[in-house]
Amino acid sequence: TVPPLLPVVGADTPVPLATGGTTTYANLDNAASAPALAAVADRVAQVLPHYASVHRGAGYLSQVSTALFEQAREQVGRFLGAREDDVVVFTRSTTDALDLLSRAVPAGARVLVADVEHHANLLPWQRSARTTVVRGGADAEETTALLEAELATGQYALLAVAGASNVTGEVLPLRRLARAAHAAGARLAVDGAQLLPHRRVDVARDGIDWIALSGHKLYAPFGAGALVGRRDWLDAAEPYLAGGGATLDVSHDAVRWATGPDRHEAGSPNVVGAVALAQACTTLAALPAGALEAHEAALRAQLVTGLSALEGVRVVRPHPADAVGVVTFTVPGRPVSEVAAYLSAEHGVGVRDGRFCAHRFANSLGLVEGGLRASTGVGTSSADVERLLAALEQFLTTGSALEYGVVEGRWGP
Ligand code: PMP
Repeated sequence: TVPPLLPVVGADTPVPLATGGTTTYANLDNAASAPALAAVADRVAQVLPHYASVHRGAGYLSQVSTALFEQAREQVGRFLGAREDDVVVFTRSTTDALDLLSRAVPAGARVLVADVEHHANLLPWQRSARTTVVRGGADAEETTALLEAELATGQYALLAVAGASNVTGEVLPLRRLARAAHAAGARLAVDGAQLLPHRRVDVARDGIDWIALSGHKLYAPFGAGALVGRRDWLDAAEPYLAGGGATLDVSHDAVRWATGPDRHEAGSPNVVGAVALAQACTTLAALPAGALEAHEAALRAQLVTGLSALEGVRVVRPHPADAVGVVTFTVPGRPVSEVAAYLSAEHGVGVRDGRFCAHRFANSLGLVEGGLRASTGVGTSSADVERLLAALEQFLTTGSALEYGVVEGRWGP
C-alpha cells in the first residue's frame, strides 16, 4: 500500500452520495487542481492577520507584508533554481504567466509549439506572436525529434513546451530540448503546470529560459502563479498591466516604467497567494530526494495496471517512456460524462472528463468525444486508486441507469 506522501487539507471532508449517506472524497483530479498542503493551510492562517498593503505603506504591517511578499519571491526562485539575474513575476496562474511571456516576444520573432499543448501554451503564442504549430508525434520521443528538426531550420526565437502533458502525463526531455533550442539560437519556455507538482526542476541546470506555474496545481490555493526566467525580454516588453506599482515616475508628458518584476505586477498583488505558493515550494523542496517520484510512480503503475486489466476500458498511451501520475482512459460505448457522474455520485470518486483544454491533442488521440482522466498528487494513496478501480468494475458489470444531477442542498462547509 502507498500512503499519501504529505498531508493535505480536505482529505476527510464528507461528500454526499446519490444513494444517501456520505463518504470521503477519493480525489483523482489533482491535475485540474490539487488540494492544499496542510503546511500551506497553516502558513496562510499564520500570515492572514499580518497582511497590509505592500510596497507602499510605512506602517508595521505593511513592512511585514512587503517582507513576506519579497521572501515568497525568493523562495519560489530558489525552488526552481533561478539564476542570479532571473526574475520571478507573480501572476494569477500558468495561463496568466504564458500570456505575459507571449506579449514579451520581440517583434517579428518566431515561436515554435507542438499541437499537443494545453490551450494555455498554444493560444497566447498564436494570438501574440508569429507562431508555427507542428503536429505532435506518436509519443514524446517522436514529438521531441519533430521539434528538434523544426528548430534546426534556425528561424525560431522561442520553443514553448509543456514539461508534462495534462492529457497523457508524458514528460518531455527538457535538457535535450534546451540544448536543441540553444544550438539553433532559440530559447526554451516550459509550461510547468503539470510537471512541477511531480518533479523537481532546476532552470539553470536544465537550461530552461522561462518556466510558468500555478499555485493551485502545486498544492497551494487558486489565484497565484509565477513566471520565472530571463529578464531581458521582460524588461524590454510593454508592461503586462498598466497601473500603480509598475512605474518609476508619471508626469504630464511621460511614464517611466519600472523594470524587473514590478514592471508586470501593476496593482495590489496577491500576497497571501504568493506566500502560500512559496510555502508549497519550500515543503516540496524539503522532501527527501526521489520521494516525490517514487510515490507517484507507484500510483501511476497501480492505475495503469488496474485500468488495463478492466475489460471495457481503454487506456490512452499507457506506457510512455517517462510520465507523471496523469492517466487518461475511456469506456468505449459509454459517454465520459456519464461515467464521471457515476463515479462521483455512487462512489465519491472525482475524475475529470472532457478534452482537458487540449482539444487538438485530444482529437488526435481519438478523444473527440472526450476522455476520463485520473491524476494523482502528493495527497493520493493507493486506497484512492483502489476505489476508482472498484467503482469502474461495478460500472462495467451493473452499468448505470441513473440520471445524475447536482446533489441538492447537501454540501458546502
Ligand atoms: N498547462 C497545463 C499543462 C495545464 O494542465 C493547465 C491546467 N489545466 C494549464 C496550463 C493552465 O493552468 P491554469 O488554469 O492554472 O492557468
